[in-house]
Amino acid sequence: MPKTKNDLYSDVNFDELKRAAIDYLWMPYTQYNDLLNSGGPRVIVEGEGIRLKDSEGNSYIDAMGGLFLVNVGHGRSEIAESVAEQLNSVHYANTFMYGTVPTILLAKKLAELAPGDLNRVFLASGGSEAVDTALKIVRQYHVNNGEPRRTKFIARRGSYHGVSVGALSVNSSPAVHRDIWDPMLINTKFVGETAEEVEDLIKFEGPDTVAGFITEPISVPKGMVVPDDDYWPKLREICDKYGVLLVADEVITGFGRTGKMFAMEHWGVTPDLMTFAKGVTSGYQPVGGVIATPKIYEAFVGGNDKTFFHGYTYSGHPAAAAAGLANLDILERENLVQNSAETGAYLRNQLEALREHSMVSHINGTGLMLAIQLVEDKATGEPLDPNSKKAIRLAEEIEKRGMLTRTAPFLYLSPPLTLTRNEADEIVAIIDGALTAVEQDG
Ligand code: PLP
Repeated sequence: MPKTKNDLYSDVNFDELKRAAIDYLWMPYTQYNDLLNSGGPRVIVEGEGIRLKDSEGNSYIDAMGGLFLVNVGHGRSEIAESVAEQLNSVHYANTFMYGTVPTILLAKKLAELAPGDLNRVFLASGGSEAVDTALKIVRQYHVNNGEPRRTKFIARRGSYHGVSVGALSVNSSPAVHRDIWDPMLINTKFVGETAEEVEDLIKFEGPDTVAGFITEPISVPKGMVVPDDDYWPKLREICDKYGVLLVADEVITGFGRTGKMFAMEHWGVTPDLMTFAKGVTSGYQPVGGVIATPKIYEAFVGGNDKTFFHGYTYSGHPAAAAAGLANLDILERENLVQNSAETGAYLRNQLEALREHSMVSHINGTGLMLAIQLVEDKATGEPLDPNSKKAIRLAEEIEKRGMLTRTAPFLYLSPPLTLTRNEADEIVAIIDGALTAVEQDG
C-alpha cells in the first residue's frame, strides 16, 4: 500500500533531517553559514491550492508560486495520477528514435496553443535547456542557410534566461554573477530597454554577424515592468529588416501567467522561436522546450547535414509529457487564463492602496505576474537593499503573517492562477500589516 499524504513522513525526525541538509545538501544560491545559523532549511511537507505547509505545521500562501510556475496550484492529484499511469505503462523510451503517446500529444497541444504560426515543438527538461536549444537552433539556422558568420547574440541587460553555459551567455541578471564564467560564454552584447538600441547595435556589430535577439516579454529581475505597446512590434520589424532571429523567452510568462496564454499575445507579435518551461507542467514534472515557426523548421529539412544535431536523454520524457497534458487540461477546463487576467486586475487594483506606505514606490506587472517596487524611502527613491535590516525585517514580518515570497527590491506576487478575490485580499492584508510593522520601527 502506498503511504497516504498524512503518514508519508510519519517516520521522519525533522531535526535530524535538517541537520542532514546542513551536512550534505548543496542548496542553490545558499551560503553554508546562513544554512547553519538558521538550523537548516524550512522543510515543506504539503501543498494544497495556493498554500504550503512546513514540518512545524505552519501554513503559508505560496505567493511566488514556487519559482513562478505553480499555475494550476498545489495538490492536483489528477496530474499525479496521469504521471503514475504513464510510468506504469511505459516509463521511458528512446525519444531520438521512437515516439510515445504523451510526447506526441503534448507537441500537438502546444502547437495548437502557441501564437501565430509557431507550430514545431522541441522538448527538453527546463528553462535553461530550452534557452540553450533556442540558441543552437538560431546558430544552425544561419549555418544551414549559408550564413555561418552570424554568431553573435543580443540580449537585454539585466534579464534572466537560466544558468547552463549557453543560457548564462545571454543572462545578465546580477544574481548569476556571469563574470565568473565569462571566457567560456557565447559572444553576447547587451542593450537597454528600447528597440532602437537593438537596431543601433545590429548596425554597429555588422548585421551579417548577428544571429539572434532574445529577451523575456516581461522580465522578473527587472521588476515585472510591462514594456511599451510598440516595443515588441518594433523588435519584430528590426529583426526582419536585418535577418536576425527574434526569440521570446516565455519560460515564466507562458501558460496564463500574464492573463493571456502567452505574453506575446498582448502585442500580437509572433517571434521566430519561443522558449517555454515552468507553467507547462506547473512544476509537477520538469519540462521545457522551444516552439519554432515553419520558416525556422524548413531550414532543417533536406540532406542529413541539415539535421538539428541536438537532443537530451529526457527530451519528451513520457511521464513528464503526461504531466504537461494533464496540467494544460486543467488550465483550459477551469478557465485559469481568464482568472489570471481578472483576479490579477483585481489584485493589482487592491495593491495600489499600498502606495500610501513610505516603502512602496510602484506596482508593476499584469495578470498574476505582479511586483511591488520597494524603496528605502520614497523621498530618496533608493531601491530597498535585500541585505538591509529593513528588508530582512519585512521578510520576517511577511512570513510571520503566513506568506512566502521574495521581498527586496521587488516583492513578487506570482501565485497560482486559481487565486480567488478573498485570497487576493488576504495577500494584500498580509503585506499591508508587514509594511506597517516595519515602518513603525522607523
Ligand atoms: N528563462 C527565464 C525567463 C527564466 O525566468 C528562467 C528561470 O527562472 C529560465 C529561463 C531558466 O529556467 P530553469 O531554471 O528551468 O533552467
